[in-house]
Amino acid sequence: MSSTIIYWFRHDLRLNDLPALHAASALGDVIPVFIYDSQLGGDWKLGGASQWWLHNSLNRLKASIEHQGGRLLLRSGETVAELQKLLFETGASHIVASRQYQPWSEDLERAVATMATDNASQFKRYAGTLLFEPDAVTTGAGTPFKVFTPFWRACLKAAQPDMPKPVPSLHFPHQWPPSETLDDWSLLPTDPNWAEGWDTLWDPGELGAQKSLAAFLDERVYHYSEGRDIPSGPHTSRLSPSLKFGEISPRQVWWAAQQCKHENPQSSAAIDKFLSEIGWREFCNQLVAQFPAMPDRAFNPKFDYFPWGSNSEHLRAWQRGQTGYPIVDAGMRELWHTGFMHNRVRMIVASFLTKHLLIHWRLGEQWFWDTLLDADLASNACSWQWVGGSGADASPYFRIFNPIAQGEKFDKQGRYTRQWVPELANLPDNYLHKPWEAPALTLAASGVELGKTYPHPIVDHKEAREAALGAYGTLKALTG
Ligand SMILES: Cc1cc2nc3c(=O)[nH]c(=O)nc-3n(C[C@H](O)[C@H](O)[C@H](O)COP(=O)(O)OP(=O)(O)OC[C@H]3O[C@@H](n4cnc5c(N)ncnc54)[C@H](O)[C@@H]3O)c2cc1C
Repeated sequence: MSSTIIYWFRHDLRLNDLPALHAASALGDVIPVFIYDSQLGGDWKLGGASQWWLHNSLNRLKASIEHQGGRLLLRSGETVAELQKLLFETGASHIVASRQYQPWSEDLERAVATMATDNASQFKRYAGTLLFEPDAVTTGAGTPFKVFTPFWRACLKAAQPDMPKPVPSLHFPHQWPPSETLDDWSLLPTDPNWAEGWDTLWDPGELGAQKSLAAFLDERVYHYSEGRDIPSGPHTSRLSPSLKFGEISPRQVWWAAQQCKHENPQSSAAIDKFLSEIGWREFCNQLVAQFPAMPDRAFNPKFDYFPWGSNSEHLRAWQRGQTGYPIVDAGMRELWHTGFMHNRVRMIVASFLTKHLLIHWRLGEQWFWDTLLDADLASNACSWQWVGGSGADASPYFRIFNPIAQGEKFDKQGRYTRQWVPELANLPDNYLHKPWEAPALTLAASGVELGKTYPHPIVDHKEAREAALGAYGTLKALTG
């Protein structure tokens, strides 16, 4: 008689290139389960936009498993308790899963292993989320890297990641334990449905991720080096939500990119640039593995003394895209309406919050956590700290993005800004990023009435810059 194996799906919602699923299929009949543990992560439990993605991704995974002749069990509750119930119900010999790297994951996996042993079963975990395990690439002294460039150089010198594995041949049991339904979990927003229209913008699930990767490598990667900073066009891969939920593995991305390089050697530089962004994802994960407090505390402890302000009206104006700085407002509105924001604009809005408004990066990090479809603990925390100046290998605090110059440089013709801030659509290009400098006649001809149809800037750029530098000076005086 074949053994029964519980396959515990986590943020690895795919069937291809899943080493843990291969191991499970070799051990016996597989019972796939996803447990919705709504409290997992505490303050960092799944945000609203991520819940929308999860619902849709699980729907697709369920269909793929049914296509293979199996089922996806859905259970909700505390993870260890639910897995224990399943062991009782099935008499499974093993629980198998992909390893995860959130600060709470190691403790959780240890608790699952102990519970499994106490119930005459075994827990086995496998890599499958990163190209390199967090402790695999270290400095010559054997310590973790704190600077990206040497980290990525060392990754590129290390052995290439293994080739992706196909879907394993899965065998399922004849009898199935009961399952909840996705609708039981109410992951989709209602009243109001702020995600309306998202299913026309996004295609969650493994197949959607593969299509996005193929379309990107077929058409857009060639212009990635220059295009990646231009927010108005589809120049980047938009794979981040799929990578976050493990619908596609970084190994699949890596090898598809290598193939593309082989076929188009003239595009090597652009493809390497793209892969180095995957490298940033690796770097963030290994940083959080060595500094698990990263989502909550400054990596550079000097920043614990930074004199952050607390203007809640400014925070609200930022969240709603009503700061009076068009490129900032465009980004914040893109985020609200689509669950995504272009990387260049993420940097601009994060700099604006932490430097122009002197609001703590944690409040920005939390807003992104709830509103981004790709909200990822490591990438979000590291990126916020990178912009805010307190992170590892961070942009220095005194480098303050000028939102006017950034808009003029990266959205010269204003296509992005006009799309998301339509009340400014008729302003000529030379005033689009600084409407307060437009002559009264130009404003009137463009249908703009500052303070009525579009806000005055909530802070003056030059004064805000001086205040930020002053706050940084205070920090330096306090900490030496
Ligand atoms: C303040 C701030 C917060 C951010 N929060 C997140 C987050 O929660 N989740 C997230 O995945 N990314 C985050 N990023 C990084 C980056 O903005 C997104 O990964 C990128 O915009 C996703 O778009 P893409 O898939 O088209 O990227 P591409 O340019 O196509 O890059 C390919 C992949 O590389 C990874 N990547 C790219 N840039 C970075 C980066 N700077 N750091 C880490 N990984 C990167 C992503 O997985 C991305 O899908 C943040 C950046 C900033 C400045």
